[in-house]
Amino acid sequence: MEKDKKEDEKVAIVETIDKQTLYNEIKNNKIANEQSEKFVRAIFENYFLDNDNINFLQKNGYNFFSFFDDELCFCLSEKKYEDCCKLKLINIVDKTYKTYEEILHKPEEYEKYLLSTFESFKNTFLKLAKLEKCNYPNCSEYANENRLYEINFDKKNLLSTNRLNPFDNIFKMGEDFFKKVSNENFKFYGLCNNHFNELRLITINSKTSDQEIIKIHIIALLYKTFIGKVQLECLKEEFRKYFNSISDEDYKALFVFRIKKLSSLVKSLLENLKIYKTNFLENKDLKIIKLELETNKNMKLFDLMYPQVCPEDFSLVNSINNIFVPERVATINIANTDEISLTTIVYNKKDERLEKFFNQYLKILENKEKFIEAFVSNCALILSDNILFDKSFYDKLENENKLLYSALNKFRFENPNMGQEYLKMKFFAGFNKGNNFF
Ligand SMILES: [Zn+2]
Ligand SMILES: [Zn+2]
Repeated sequence: MEKDKKEDEKVAIVETIDKQTLYNEIKNNKIANEQSEKFVRAIFENYFLDNDNINFLQKNGYNFFSFFDDELCFCLSEKKYEDCCKLKLINIVDKTYKTYEEILHKPEEYEKYLLSTFESFKNTFLKLAKLEKCNYPNCSEYANENRLYEINFDKKNLLSTNRLNPFDNIFKMGEDFFKKVSNENFKFYGLCNNHFNELRLITINSKTSDQEIIKIHIIALLYKTFIGKVQLECLKEEFRKYFNSISDEDYKALFVFRIKKLSSLVKSLLENLKIYKTNFLENKDLKIIKLELETNKNMKLFDLMYPQVCPEDFSLVNSINNIFVPERVATINIANTDEISLTTIVYNKKDERLEKFFNQYLKILENKEKFIEAFVSNCALILSDNILFDKSFYDKLENENKLLYSALNKFRFENPNMGQEYLKMKFFAGFNKGNNFF
């Protein structure tokens, strides 16, 4: 016993010393390969990378801000960058062009930026819509227009932070982002009419089978994947056409970082989609969590959720700015019947980090250390991004709460460089008392 304790202490001390020594050696650039690998692994456990971390990773071959000729092209063509988008770069300088990063410093240009990105988004949406095949196993039809939520938004007053133009993503602290949803929101192409209707007829209640739950959940994944592909295609076009028009090296670097981030997200979504499709008819790999609560008219949710940090050991699930950590997602649905509100969460149980995250939370809920209501509310508001609030519920909130909910819902995705720590703290604080929509 005594010996074990000593051993533990020794390990802890050795680890501290090692890291400190490594830090110093990195600064002096005197580091053995084996040590640097160890350090890379340690950095990969960070939720947020600071400048030192990024510099170190850059030195060790993780290219955040430019493209190597021989890396796979960001556009997911599976060709090397030098044989793909690099070849298509246009060599004409357009002095009127400004990147998103530049717009952040010139807010007066934002309206113009919105018009051009929305135009590009709409056209690309239609272009990819024509190419999208039905994702139902063994169907060879083309996909039709589908909608994430089966709600007539013109008749129901629901609010969301979802915007028709996904490039409209400057969210300012102290503003209310929740706006009325219209029937134009949440459209995508993913399934043919027959199969979309088949899945739509399934309702989630306590009797729904696991296989049927997976069938419903794939819709949210299809929605996010389609929108992600459209966004990536837009950025690809913008890159090819205008990259050589950017004169400022910093804006170039940030533009590349933004492209790489989106590319890594879409790649993860496509991989997840593959897993959901493999388990669509017979489930082996997906785990389903069901949480039953009193029925709830205040909010709805059908979305992906992005777990961030495990609640017990604080180990990382997703990193906020390490684009080389694959994005881990689960799907979440909150269905309300007259009697109950049933939250279902589906995720790939072979993913050790997701498994750890959910197991730790389920244990906490089981021990009644925290309330299921707060867990579900936080997942919907903070770890997802398409929560719908009933207007009559939202209108009754104090202004301070509206602003807080806006910040909690958006900042993780759009402004990862601000307030991560604040967000994490709020997540855990909200878990105990506030943020309860039931
Ligand atoms: Zn390419
Ligand atoms: Zn089909």
